[in-house]
Amino acid sequence: MREVAGAIHLHSCYSDGSGTLREITAAAARAGIDFLILTDHDTLRPAADGWQGWRDGVLVVVGAEITCSDRSHVVALGATDVETLRQKPLRRVLFDLANQGAVAIVAHAHPAHVMGYPLKAGELLDWEVPGFAGVELWSFMHDICNGLTPWRIPSFLQTWRRRIGGPHPDTIAHWDRITQNRRFAALGALDNHAVAMPVLGTRILPYEDVFRTLRTHVFCDRWSGGPEDADRVVDAIRRGRCFMALDLEADARGFRFEAERDGERLWMGEQHLWQGPTTLRVHSPVRAQLVLLHDGRRACVAEASALEHRAEEPGVYRVEARIDGRPWVYTNPIYLRPGRVADE
Ligand SMILES: [Zn+2]
Ligand SMILES: [Zn+2]
Repeated sequence: MREVAGAIHLHSCYSDGSGTLREITAAAARAGIDFLILTDHDTLRPAADGWQGWRDGVLVVVGAEITCSDRSHVVALGATDVETLRQKPLRRVLFDLANQGAVAIVAHAHPAHVMGYPLKAGELLDWEVPGFAGVELWSFMHDICNGLTPWRIPSFLQTWRRRIGGPHPDTIAHWDRITQNRRFAALGALDNHAVAMPVLGTRILPYEDVFRTLRTHVFCDRWSGGPEDADRVVDAIRRGRCFMALDLEADARGFRFEAERDGERLWMGEQHLWQGPTTLRVHSPVRAQLVLLHDGRRACVAEASALEHRAEEPGVYRVEARIDGRPWVYTNPIYLRPGRVADE
């Protein structure tokens, strides 16, 4: 299994971001990420212009962020047409994306206010509309910009790293409820625009700085260095075979959460029928507070670089990790289902 770490949810000058693809891929290479997923508004033009594939040693995956008629946003990966879906009702958008074989993700679920206005959050209740494969559980932009006012922008440019709080507790609680019934992938998203501020002679959150923060680490069973790797990243995300990490805190490459049963290794995102007590293991590249959760409740906590726990009951198991009290890693669950596995 190959681990690749990348940046998800980016806007370029194909929509309302400030960077060209040339600038963005160069910034990604400098920041050392393996892939990036573009999500310009209502367009796949970067793909038509030949940008999907490998650039500067970084895999570029062209997705899109679709604006529905209720103004909600859906992130689409692997779609073939998004232009005709613009301003269509959410259910229609999800139905059409499913027909295209695309993955639909609830965009920026984090409730936030910026400049006194509520930002578009992924409407919590709408997650249960059929067709969503997952959610941007941690939306970096909504996290750090929550409560921002115009007069705070100059200090924000210096201190934004201190505003990082992690996924919103309401978002996590809602996700935990949904995963009781079905697999629902969680990922970390940047929603970066690198807005230009000519007056200040700078950009708000330049791409390279942000590429060093929240990354989604994806596990692909095959990796060839060719253009087909883009489909592999999208497929792994669809299956929830990933975790998100604030790599600014510590590089999370090598972090693992897995289960072992009769010599078989179960990966995060996988659903299996409960067959009796199962060993769960967490390995961390650095010492951290490791929290194992069972159906959203703490089952085991350790300040360590490894943790082992024997699951005596079926349920949804996942891991959170913190460093010095700060949010660091959120994994997708391993689902050990007591009954039939419905959506495998
Ligand atoms: Zn959006
Ligand atoms: Zn966006």
